[in-house]
Amino acid sequence: MRDFELNLTPEEESLKQYKYMEKAKLLVAEKEKELGRKLTFHVTTFGCQMNARDSEKLVGILSEIGYVEAEDERADFVIYNTCTVRENADNKVWGRLGYLKSYKKQNPETIIGLCGCMMQEQGVVEKIEKEYKHVNLVFGTHNIYKFAELACKTLQSKGLVVDVWKENDKIVEDLPMKRKFSFKSGVNIMFGCDNFCSYCIVPYVRGREKSREPKDIIREIERLVADGVCEVMLLGQNVNSYGKNLEHPMSFADLLREVNKIEGLERIRFMTSHPKDLSDDLILAMKECDKVCGHMHLPLQSGSDRILEIMNRHYDKAKYLDIVRKLREAVPDIAITTDIIVGFPGETEEDFQETLNVVKEVGYDSAFTFIYSKRTGTRAAKMDNQVPTDVVKDRFNRLLEEVQTISAERAKRHEGKVMPVLVEGINEHDNSLVTGRLENNLVVHFKGTEDMIGKIYNVKLSECKGFYYLGELA
Ligand code: SF4
Repeated sequence: MRDFELNLTPEEESLKQYKYMEKAKLLVAEKEKELGRKLTFHVTTFGCQMNARDSEKLVGILSEIGYVEAEDERADFVIYNTCTVRENADNKVWGRLGYLKSYKKQNPETIIGLCGCMMQEQGVVEKIEKEYKHVNLVFGTHNIYKFAELACKTLQSKGLVVDVWKENDKIVEDLPMKRKFSFKSGVNIMFGCDNFCSYCIVPYVRGREKSREPKDIIREIERLVADGVCEVMLLGQNVNSYGKNLEHPMSFADLLREVNKIEGLERIRFMTSHPKDLSDDLILAMKECDKVCGHMHLPLQSGSDRILEIMNRHYDKAKYLDIVRKLREAVPDIAITTDIIVGFPGETEEDFQETLNVVKEVGYDSAFTFIYSKRTGTRAAKMDNQVPTDVVKDRFNRLLEEVQTISAERAKRHEGKVMPVLVEGINEHDNSLVTGRLENNLVVHFKGTEDMIGKIYNVKLSECKGFYYLGELA
């Protein structure tokens, strides 16, 4: 069965899934008739933006087959789209499944589905089969496009439906998707990762890098723009190595140039950029392309060459700082943000000082700082020189203080300027204000109304409050 399925072209696969949607629609309609009410669903997303985008596909298909979105997990079809980057993300899912067990006792017809990275991890499916018998459906990251078919099977089955694949090089396009925001959207440009950083589980659960064809990416963005989207975030674990394995290779810089030509699109963002693959041509493309936001998220992870090598990052401090210099030369006001891990196995105070030095030298606009957490299944988890918790905590606090002081300083530099802001919503605490984002990702609150959501306005940044601005329409 699997071999036959793998021989279908992506177009044939997509058609097949639409047929399953038709079938599922009938099954859902029958059930609704029986119960005398609409059926509901709820999708909970853990983890990164790639998972968020995958969840939009699940929501799209569930809506297409007739389910209505519920506010919480008390629904007829509950899905957890899981993440496995950190071990405590797994624990959260196990905990929530415990809660769903008692809910399902009272509502035995509820379907519980699990998908995402955690399902790709060794031993997880076996654990579900043995200990979580109330789960109905388990699938992985490689066959999410088969969700309509799997939903159909689950609706007709009394037992557990499991379909988790180790690999898949097929990318199936054109399936329904329901976006969370009307005006901005993530767009996957590639899947998987080839890098094997020693602390990271992603290559083991997401598989090897596969890039989407540029024409498919462009077509998707054109459709999004026609549907009211003005900002896209191009997504991949390592966007800088986009296109290397395509039949007709294309660089990420050239993809940006193509996306920049799309009429009606106003802002282009991307993540994540691995420093080892960041080319001079990409920096040039950022300078040339007026729609590409002046923001680069460039994970540092550590400022120590010794630690970077053990992390298997394939760059050193000098190369990293050189990229930063070139970026600032090309795009003078660029915002640079980063990720830093503190307490990687074997990290000494000297290594940590190296990290602090890079933080001071670069002057990040913001930084996500993480305490190293052991991830079973990675090389780093087997290293025997784990740093004691109190030492890590002390370093983490020192780093956080440095990072926060610098980013508050950096944010201030725009005070008094007039800059374009994309309005994202009504302010959560004061509904006379709207909240939006600058190109550099900083948040701005200013007087406004709901009809401004999704549009770009020139706003005077009157007062910097550290990590956000209060402004007024210019
Ligand atoms: S680049 Fe490294 S950290 Fe990022 S997903 Fe790949 S292996 Fe993980």
